[in-house]
Amino acid sequence: MIDQNLVKSGKSGNIIREIAEYGAEQAKIVGADHVYNFTIGSPSIDPPDCVFETMAKLRAEISPAQLHTYAPAVGLPEVREKTAAYLRNTFGIPYRMQDVIITCGTSTCLAALTRVFLSCGGRAMTFTPYFMDYKYYADAYGDGLTECPTDPDTFQLDLAAAEKALTSDTMMLIMNSPNNPSGVVLRREGLEVLAKLLERKQEEYGHPIYIVADEPYRDLVYDGQEVVFLPSIYKNTIYCYSFSKSMSLPGERVGFMAFPPDLDDYDDVYSASVAAIRAFGYICVSNMWQRITAECLGATSDISIYKGNRDLLYGSLTEMGYTCVYPDGAFYLFMKTPEPDAEAFCRRAMKENLLVVPGDSFGTPGYVRLAYCVSRDVIERALPVFRKLAEEYGIAR
Ligand code: PLP
Repeated sequence: MIDQNLVKSGKSGNIIREIAEYGAEQAKIVGADHVYNFTIGSPSIDPPDCVFETMAKLRAEISPAQLHTYAPAVGLPEVREKTAAYLRNTFGIPYRMQDVIITCGTSTCLAALTRVFLSCGGRAMTFTPYFMDYKYYADAYGDGLTECPTDPDTFQLDLAAAEKALTSDTMMLIMNSPNNPSGVVLRREGLEVLAKLLERKQEEYGHPIYIVADEPYRDLVYDGQEVVFLPSIYKNTIYCYSFSKSMSLPGERVGFMAFPPDLDDYDDVYSASVAAIRAFGYICVSNMWQRITAECLGATSDISIYKGNRDLLYGSLTEMGYTCVYPDGAFYLFMKTPEPDAEAFCRRAMKENLLVVPGDSFGTPGYVRLAYCVSRDVIERALPVFRKLAEEYGIAR
């Protein structure tokens, strides 16, 4: 009588947390300075000033009882309107207040939409490498996740592979750019071809295929690389954003999803999403944090710090002899392991207190993910360990 899918999923654990916990134990033994922890994608830099200024302003202007009371289930109307206006002005899509739902980060969007599109037999598809939680949602509400490979040298879309992976059951395509775990930003050329392919497949299958654009890293790009706004090239796109990474507010649990007014089957998709959010209990996002983030829309933490980390880590590792796809955004580097078994590499690195996550968890064996949202000092101290490993594996230059 207990959902065995969930039992299996729950028992599979979370390798990132496990390695991070090992690191915390090691820090007690050898000292925190001798543990180099690149496992967790949690921002290490302060939120933008606007966050604290708005917090002070709200405290001065709104009574504590009002500021900390329940917000409406899907968001404060003024916050939904501000968000819609921001999206209209920034991307030119005519979102209305009622098209926006305020959520607990993009996790809520992903869980709810997976439930909506998969629980009646639909399938979800995503491109490798991908954020591991997509699989949890797909396993929990449906028949798993179709993993479509990308170009192995660039992690850009492989359209032939995409065409092969799509089936008449595909209801939902989860896209993530800038990408966790690779940091890759998907190029416009490939995305436009993908949009055309999906339009063709919708015709062929006789039902909509929805893109879920999971974009918590949209504002973390370092070289002016364009992050295509998917709703502007494919109308059946539900856009999901989070303040967890761009404003360094992961613990406050604020984000939103936006449904374009001309989405196919708008009423059903929207109503089912609201019901799914409600059924999960992901309702009434913090009243105060909704107001703060809406006031600061467009602001980011000082991402030049991440850029400095990216440059140092990418530059040093490739110089040492490691291979990594150049990460234009997010705060992750996906490094090819010098042996095919990434877990074996991780275990070897763990002996040196260097903590990284195997790419198998992201549907891509033979790589490790390094979250470089750490202090520069950690990177500087870890570099000799990377060099030692490169020498042991015989790849050092
Ligand atoms: N999507 C991706 C690709 C992520 O990396 C994360 C968090 O690490 C999330 C979604 C969920 O983030 P949140 O729920 O905090 O917005």
